[in-house]
Amino acid sequence: MSTIAVVGVGLAGVRAGEALRAQGHDGRLVMIGEEAVEPYDRPPLSKQVLLGTYEACDIALTDTASRAELDAEWLLGTRATAFDPVTRHLTLSDGQSLHAEGVVIATGARARALSGVPELDSVHTLRTLDDARRLRDDLSRPGRVAVVGGGFIGAEVASAARALGHEVTIVEFEQMPLLRQLGSAAGVLRRLHTDHGVALVTGVSVTGLVGRDRVQAVSLSDGRSLPADVVVVGIGAVPNTEWLAGSGVALDNGVLTDEWCRTTVPGVVAAGDVAAYRCRGGRRLRIEHWTNARDMPATAARSLLATLRGEDPVEQPAHDPLPYVWSDQYDSHLQIAGRPDADDALELVSGSFDSGFVAVYRRDGAVTGVLAVDSPKEFGRLRRELRGTWATR
Ligand code: FAD
Ligand code: NAP
Repeated sequence: MSTIAVVGVGLAGVRAGEALRAQGHDGRLVMIGEEAVEPYDRPPLSKQVLLGTYEACDIALTDTASRAELDAEWLLGTRATAFDPVTRHLTLSDGQSLHAEGVVIATGARARALSGVPELDSVHTLRTLDDARRLRDDLSRPGRVAVVGGGFIGAEVASAARALGHEVTIVEFEQMPLLRQLGSAAGVLRRLHTDHGVALVTGVSVTGLVGRDRVQAVSLSDGRSLPADVVVVGIGAVPNTEWLAGSGVALDNGVLTDEWCRTTVPGVVAAGDVAAYRCRGGRRLRIEHWTNARDMPATAARSLLATLRGEDPVEQPAHDPLPYVWSDQYDSHLQIAGRPDADDALELVSGSFDSGFVAVYRRDGAVTGVLAVDSPKEFGRLRRELRGTWATR
């Protein structure tokens, strides 16, 4: 009976464990997670957890029954520090070594920190439950909040901080928040922030932080100083791959995999935020969103079990989904499907840009993405249509 180790027990790791069991792995299953807490879901961290409407028990990814069914050994609070592809030994942070015929890499990503700035109190990144709790504590006191980075974290934290009554400023070095993520629609959604009283400081970067122990201000590249009692840095995520140095697993801004989630080492697959997979047409995607982390592990598990049986996984369906993201900001629910380029044209399909709407992105006449605000039904229809063309592109 073979041993399979799942490294990283966020959404992708937990789903990988479940998929391995569902697909017939009846050998040893070891779930290794650096965080010392039971696995939990991240999307509520920037929403309900900050607002105080969800606690840790509301975001658990497993419960007693599902853990019993999984029948796995859990090594929580334990980090994998190396993998030897010849002996197939994983080295763990507690000094143990674990032999595994199969390995699922699901180590996700971590928040990128601002470089070259002093370490001060009340400066936050947001990736873990502990991060969310610390930020929630700081937001429980009145104060001015500066959000560095106008990506998804920036937009959602700004929204939560406003709901909690704070004065909020977003600092973004593009001309508007979510420009890279939403392309031509960013101009439309900019109003979501300003209508809710969030100040936008765009086209500048952060050059420093001011304060003795606690932060007092953010220094900007145009010479201004932005007073702040709390700073939240949301400037992207970095894949957790350092532990794979020397393992033979090819890395390039993530773990490189093929369409079947296979890495360059046989019997080692990857899924979720950490995996940069090849899709049809040879393009590489590393998707940092929930739906991909939920769905990719099924392919990874199928592919790994086929390899361990000595079969060719290429006979199995490949991982090539239509990318999908949602985001909750203020009282609005945003949904995006596809992978539009920044300069794809935006065309309103229904509703109004002043309230709820559905729009499509087009390039050379072809639809490349769908965006909706508070219009889930119409979005669902257009998403299904796009999925059809995505599969045959
Ligand atoms: P992760 O969730 O990063 O889990 C990886 C785990 O591996 C972590 O627990 C990490 O500690 C552990 N690990 C790392 N290295 C090691 C090691 N060497 N050994 C052992 N363990 C290790 N997506 C959406 O689509 N919609 C949303 O609204 C949304 N909101 C979000 C809000 C927040 C605050 C954040 C941070 C993300 C949000 N996302 C959202 C993105 C989504 O949560 C991620 O895509 C998803 O969590 C990725 O899951 P993962 O399991 O691949 O990685
Ligand atoms: P992100 O979505 O990649 O956005 C980071 C933003 O910060 C980008 O707009 C980036 O601009 C900007 N930026 C980068 N360096 C900067 C700097 N030095 N100063 C000012 N701005 C800077 O990343 P994120 O918002 O930090 O989110 C982290 C992770 O959580 C991502 O994986 C994200 O997908 C995930 N998340 C997802 C959701 C969701 O799906 N709803 C919600 C929260 C978090 P450039 O584009 O120009 O680099």
